Amino acid sequence: MAAKFNEDECIRCGACVEDCPFEALSLPDDSPTPVCDEDLCFTCGSCLEICPMGAITIEE
Ligand code: SF4
Ligand code: SF4
Repeated sequence: MAAKFNEDECIRCGACVEDCPFEALSLPDDSPTPVCDEDLCFTCGSCLEICPMGAITIEE
């Protein structure tokens, strides 16, 4: 399970990376969106709530 990011909507604001309580998200310089570590994501949904662009979904 992991957070998935829509490249066309994400503006790389970093809000989700800061928000994740499990530090599952990172924002590599060479990536158009954050990256989710599936081993750390507990699909709590917090990043979905905070994203101003609605760019995040959860993939089971
Ligand atoms: S769903 Fe929760 S645990 Fe997973 S990346 Fe988003 S904030 Fe982090
Ligand atoms: S909060 Fe939304 S727009 Fe900002 S970096 Fe995360 S996915 Fe992209």
